[in-house]
Amino acid sequence: MKAWDAANPGPFVVSHPCPACDGRGTLIERLCSACHGTGVGRFYHGTKADLEPGDLIAPGHSPNFGKRERKTTYVYLTGTLDAATWGAELSLGEGPGRIYMVEPTGPIGDDPDLTDKKFPGNPTKSYRSLEPLRVTREVTDWQGHSPEELEAMKDGIERAERLGIEPIDD
Ligand SMILES: [Zn+2]
Repeated sequence: MKAWDAANPGPFVVSHPCPACDGRGTLIERLCSACHGTGVGRFYHGTKADLEPGDLIAPGHSPNFGKRERKTTYVYLTGTLDAATWGAELSLGEGPGRIYMVEPTGPIGDDPDLTDKKFPGNPTKSYRSLEPLRVTREVTDWQGHSPEELEAMKDGIERAERLGIEPIDD
């Protein structure tokens, strides 16, 4: 379960569909290799970390949700600015949330936290990888959620944590 999944936000819109496959994820009888079969032309990662273009974002950090002493196995990326916005706002750390455009350096797969029965398919276009993500540039023109939305989301996360819900990261 992703942190921001708790309050079921949305809608999630892919900002830049993959130009090679027109956002479909597939070409004739094969997956589109340009976008790893996702249909996404621009991937985002929301965080509190201050990064430069060329930096790598690797797994092995404390999760933003659930037991903090765990270390994440995967890094997470998304094709929607809205999902990245929740990531930036809810991630651990000091300072302002930041959103970066990133490129996967290895294979990516659907984020299982967001592809369950609650979210048939992968509507939030959320993915994960065992390999680092490379930062290509920071996105600065994004709009944060309102204090009320953020509060509602944090309440939902606290409820989920009290229920002992842990993120899927293995
Ligand atoms: Zn494509």
